[in-house]
Amino acid sequence: MNSNFESKSFLSNRIKSFKGTVFDKQRSKCSAKKMAEAGFYSLQSDSDLVKCYACGIEIQNWSKSSDDPWSVHENQSDCCLYLQLKKSYSQELTVKEFLEVEKYRFLRMNRKIYDQKSVIFKQVLEKIQNLSKDQQIVLTADENNVIKVGVESK
Ligand SMILES: [Zn+2]
Repeated sequence: MNSNFESKSFLSNRIKSFKGTVFDKQRSKCSAKKMAEAGFYSLQSDSDLVKCYACGIEIQNWSKSSDDPWSVHENQSDCCLYLQLKKSYSQELTVKEFLEVEKYRFLRMNRKIYDQKSVIFKQVLEKIQNLSKDQQIVLTADENNVIKVGVESK
């Protein structure tokens, strides 16, 4: 609950995420505030990898002098509802729009989890078909939490 709710849906939390990053001291188009207003928050303090809180797109390798976070975001994720509703840096979302983006965010998040689970499910089904009586299916997670479907003897 709280992990979703102290979330990056709020501009102030997104701005805070840029503290100590390369965007922090920028006075250019890619200032922390401009990045946050375009929906982004920082994922790693030692890189310029950022993520949109709404559509989830991750973007890296910014050219701080020339890139406009807004148009970069638009070019790479033309379906982002946050961008569609907000339309400009300075415009604030209404409460209704804010909640619409929240719904969109949750649906996309669940969709991603669903897609990951159905990949695992398909792999399990394939393995089950060739499973002999002395074998069993084993699910393991690697260091990036990617689930691997394996077979081992009982
Ligand atoms: Zn987005």
